[in-house]
Amino acid sequence: MSKKNQAVPNTPAMIEQKLAAVQNEHRFRHTLGVTYTACSLAMRYDCDMQLAWTAGLLHDCAKHMSGLELRDLCYRERLNVTPFEIEHPALLHAKAGAFLARKQYGITDLSILEAIRWHTTGKPDMTLLEKIIFVADYIEPNRDRAPNLDHLRHLAFEDLDQCVLEVLRGTVSYLSRNPKSMDSMTLDALHYYEQHFA
Ligand code: FE
Ligand code: FE
Repeated sequence: MSKKNQAVPNTPAMIEQKLAAVQNEHRFRHTLGVTYTACSLAMRYDCDMQLAWTAGLLHDCAKHMSGLELRDLCYRERLNVTPFEIEHPALLHAKAGAFLARKQYGITDLSILEAIRWHTTGKPDMTLLEKIIFVADYIEPNRDRAPNLDHLRHLAFEDLDQCVLEVLRGTVSYLSRNPKSMDSMTLDALHYYEQHFA
């Protein structure tokens, strides 16, 4: 079989199997938590289940890489990175993740790639799928550190935009303890959701 025709692991079952092999147990549990939370939100808001399933599984597909590896990958593949992201390589896993989802997992659907791309910082005016992954990442069952999680978990199924707003507020207040690590996109997103949904 030519390389071109080789099957790419792009069904949820195949992706899950591959991720189980590269992620540690803790990260894989988080991955599944985000996946099932995203699927539940997709049911609630009539989002395409297959898209939510796949994006949930792959949202952290680059997170097992070290800061150095992430930086190398972004330089090598000429991914458009900001000086701020280079200084804070933890932020790069979203951008690198969108790249790996395409390259290693055969994902071509742009809506999935964008949901992976924006899952960490959020951004203004997110699509339904982007909001679902952004919120699912914050409220999935294994999370236990953010305050008022019970409220947010309820709100996610009541009013997704309000939940996005509160997650952004929580993220910004958490990051403002260390303002140097705040990506400006998170603030842009907060301003947008404050303006439209507060
Ligand atoms: Fe992440
Ligand atoms: Fe995550």
